[in-house]
Amino acid sequence: MTPSAQPAASHFIDGAPAEDTCGAQIDCIYPATGEKIASVHAATPAIIEQALAAAVRAGADWAAMTGTERGRILRRAADLMRARNHDLSVLETLDTGKPYSETSVADATSAADALEYFGGLAGSLTGEHIQLGQDWVYTRREPLGVCVGIGAWNYPTQIACWKAAPALACGNTMVFKPSETTPLGALKVAEILTEAGAPPGVFNVVQGRGDVGAALVGDPRVAKVSLTGSVATGRRVASLAAEGMKHVTLELGGKSPLLVFDDADLEDAVSGAILGNFYSSGQVCSNGARVFVQSGIRAAFLDRLAERLKGVVMGDPLDPSVNFGPMVSERQMEIVLGFIAQGKTEGARLIAGGGRADRPGYFVQPTVFAGVTDEMTIAREEIFGPVLSVLEFATEAEAVRRANATPYGLAAGVFTRDLTRAHRVAAAFQAGTCYINTYNLAPVEAPFGGTKLSGVGRENSKAAIDHYSQLKSVYVAMGRVEAPF
Ligand code: NDP
Repeated sequence: MTPSAQPAASHFIDGAPAEDTCGAQIDCIYPATGEKIASVHAATPAIIEQALAAAVRAGADWAAMTGTERGRILRRAADLMRARNHDLSVLETLDTGKPYSETSVADATSAADALEYFGGLAGSLTGEHIQLGQDWVYTRREPLGVCVGIGAWNYPTQIACWKAAPALACGNTMVFKPSETTPLGALKVAEILTEAGAPPGVFNVVQGRGDVGAALVGDPRVAKVSLTGSVATGRRVASLAAEGMKHVTLELGGKSPLLVFDDADLEDAVSGAILGNFYSSGQVCSNGARVFVQSGIRAAFLDRLAERLKGVVMGDPLDPSVNFGPMVSERQMEIVLGFIAQGKTEGARLIAGGGRADRPGYFVQPTVFAGVTDEMTIAREEIFGPVLSVLEFATEAEAVRRANATPYGLAAGVFTRDLTRAHRVAAAFQAGTCYINTYNLAPVEAPFGGTKLSGVGRENSKAAIDHYSQLKSVYVAMGRVEAPF
């Protein structure tokens, strides 16, 4: 029997749980069993109004605090998250189906990293002084106002904090809407921030589907929107935000390449491909789903990959020895199975997996296709599941050209022992987040985000500060004012 994960109320507004049972019911399903573990109600117009009004009310006092004071609250929240990592990880596993062996090291912990990092930065945010002869200009770094965060379902707690931490550090307030598929983690983030001292209204959570997201994005009180989601949703959010000339950060999908040259360390390259395709059962936006392997190492690579797949332990994700979980939902499982069927039909050679696992829940076997060509659907479209495609290449120039031949540009990786080639290839990649001899790490200290259709703006690092603040320049005249007449 799976533990219940029912929250106190569906939403968190103005420092407290909030409910309006008139909103449509959204059931939370544990993907490992298909059992219902909780349910929440979508936000009604009244709830959306309460959340936005609370965020507006809280704005002036929050922005007036010193950065050090705001930062202290964020860092206290980081400590609380770390202290409660076990419980938060169990909840994240129930919410997403990701194994506890992952959530206990990658979700609340990376969320805490963001709170700690931006909490530390908050006290050192400054404008600058520009001398102009006798006169001078100074810039003030000011918050944008009310920010809206909209999350995807793969990293609910991390995404909430990747958006909340820089927003709050800069003196903004936030209304966050989690994915309807995973509504639970963000409520805990709100509770913890409040316990850490965030005043009521500074961070609010409302549940709902896309219509709730759209109502938030379209509201004239909102200054900025940060979305993690698909390209289709990104387009809708960006065009609605453009009507109000709002700032946007869009972290969208990808079809990232991973290049393995003949001279690569075979074991590391296979590890990189595993991290880039099977972590979180492949439900990671930056996945290196197109694995280009040079002809000389291809056979050895496939043999070793097949061998390493014997280490997959599928089972109840709450069992700490399990390292491979289900898809987040039945719908996502059906989407992934559809792509696998297409791969077979279009002539890719199945090396491993290839179907639903024979057990309850929404498990898809870790799947490897070889002989994949650039035109095949599985090489072009984002699958967001545990499907690794191996494509063969002969030369560096060919590999780079084919790697970049995609409308996406989120991430890219290269495995080689040739130092100059590694940097040459990284420079040539059309992607925002690149890796040399590793894959899929996203430390808070480094900018993360995409080019081309994969998005706009950067999360994490000092770069995120520019996306959650605006500069005001103040010209200061020290002499007389000269006028033509
Ligand atoms: P969706 O784009 O379907 O949804 C993302 C969020 O937007 C959800 O909260 C969704 O609500 C909401 N939403 C949907 N329609 C609208 C709208 N018109 N206005 C405002 N909000 C809306 O993505 P998924 O949740 O299915 O997540 C998977 C996608 O996210 C993948 O394509 C993946 O590539 C991308 N992703 C990107 C990441 C990155 O950092 N670049 C990281 C993780 C995922 P609801 O779901 O409740 O309908």
